[in-house]
Amino acid sequence: MEQKTSHDVIVIGGGPAGSTAATLLARQNHRVLLLEREKFPREHVGESLLPFCYCLLEDLGVVDQLKRNFVRKPGVRFIDRDGNISTTWCFEHVINDETYLSFQVIRGEFDHILLKNAAKNGAEVYEETSVIEADITAASDSVTVTSLDSAGQKKVHRARFLVDASGRDAFIGAKNNWRKAREELDRTAIWSHWGNVKLSGGLEEGLSIIIYMGLEQKGWVWVFPLGESRITAGFVAQNSYIRDEQRKLRQSGSTDWKYDLCMQELLRSKFCRELLEGSTMLLPILINGNYSYEVKNHYGSNYAMVGDARGFIDPIFSSGVFLSIKSSYLVAAAVHKQLTEGLKGKNEMMATAYKQITGAYNFVHRMIRLFYNPHAVTWAQAGADGLAHKAHESAMAAGHYMLSGDFFENYQKFEGFFQILEDPKQFQRYKRLVIERKEFVHPSCNSRWEDVFRDMVERDAERNAAFSLGS
Ligand SMILES: Cc1cc2nc3c(=O)[nH]c(=O)nc-3n(C[C@H](O)[C@H](O)[C@H](O)COP(=O)(O)OP(=O)(O)OC[C@H]3O[C@@H](n4cnc5c(N)ncnc54)[C@H](O)[C@@H]3O)c2cc1C
Repeated sequence: MEQKTSHDVIVIGGGPAGSTAATLLARQNHRVLLLEREKFPREHVGESLLPFCYCLLEDLGVVDQLKRNFVRKPGVRFIDRDGNISTTWCFEHVINDETYLSFQVIRGEFDHILLKNAAKNGAEVYEETSVIEADITAASDSVTVTSLDSAGQKKVHRARFLVDASGRDAFIGAKNNWRKAREELDRTAIWSHWGNVKLSGGLEEGLSIIIYMGLEQKGWVWVFPLGESRITAGFVAQNSYIRDEQRKLRQSGSTDWKYDLCMQELLRSKFCRELLEGSTMLLPILINGNYSYEVKNHYGSNYAMVGDARGFIDPIFSSGVFLSIKSSYLVAAAVHKQLTEGLKGKNEMMATAYKQITGAYNFVHRMIRLFYNPHAVTWAQAGADGLAHKAHESAMAAGHYMLSGDFFENYQKFEGFFQILEDPKQFQRYKRLVIERKEFVHPSCNSRWEDVFRDMVERDAERNAAFSLGS
């Protein structure tokens, strides 16, 4: 039996983008319905947050919970495969308040905190409820959505506006054939969590470690600390490489190619070999394939796409959650205006929001192309820093701001930094004048253990106990 409901806004998906949009719109007293396919907590890739998330998470009202539950992140270190070359980017050099310490989160828990927060703020939240149809064409000021819950019950929901935050499913984009893969970034990630790890090489101070794996794989490895003895680690490589290696492993008798390939790639790096010795894998191997795509028609008079549902670019710079949450902020404000004032012609605020959002995504995309460009400098070589950089105009400061997430409002200011990295001649000069100066070699962000890992020993013990019970 189909039931009917009526709301102001329906949100598809309860990841960071959906929970943020739902929280903000419910706070404005709109009747919000959020439909999430999974039962939370559910694991998810994307665990390292940019510092520019901090103020948004504070505004959402969850920062104290995050501080109790997650490792703090003072910066990021890029290293090459052999660990000979590295640069460490410390957010404190450009952010002078407490927000410089970002978070390394366990996404199952983080997303659950945000989803419960949406409900606390007044959104009606249903888990284990998939959206199976969404009609955005029948009228310009309303939508009809059909959901199916785990008991097999179908419901029809009406609302004035639809926010598609369905992540990489890109519900509206996929249904309408508006999603297009970015061929040049066609890659797959394979990853898991490990416990019983002795943190070192920068992990012990909370840093994200990104290892550049060179040309054959066209990929990289991430290692982030998630607890005092827990890490997430994974590798990203071109699909063609993954397919070839999968075939080779199967031919040589592998019965679990995902696990074998994950270990093969991680253990290529000296850093990971030493780190993983004696560790315990805590999650079944997870895989995320074909992850770079663009979706067109980001918004209309009765719908808007936010987060990965709007498009997804390679996650090398850990920008996904910030792009998602920040986009939801901009879009929620425009939806609120439309719902309260009515749509008189065009929603100018929405158009401005998407101009800024598209500018930010394009900017990150440009950074990523630079990372994969074999002729450009690698980020492991791009800079080491020791001085306090106060001015935006400094190329080093620009690099720090980019890695912190300052690309919605200020991306035009970083043009000069790009030019330096893209032009080999300019880069050589910059290297001689800046990078090679002794005082710029800076192997640490000097973060204090108690600031980064304060409650983590306790959290690790709780999580390990839960893991032992579950296994
Ligand atoms: C390999 C890799 C590494 C990454 N690393 C980082 C990182 O370090 N830092 C970072 O910030 N980002 C990272 N990201 C990106 C990050 O994971 C995403 O950008 C982020 O999760 C997007 O949030 P979202 O809310 O848009 O989507 P999601 O978090 O994916 O949430 C979407 C939700 O929608 C639900 N859903 C989907 N379809 C339906 C439906 N039909 N009905 C109901 N519910 C539905 C899903 O169950 C899901 O819970 C990484 C991504 C990849 C692939």
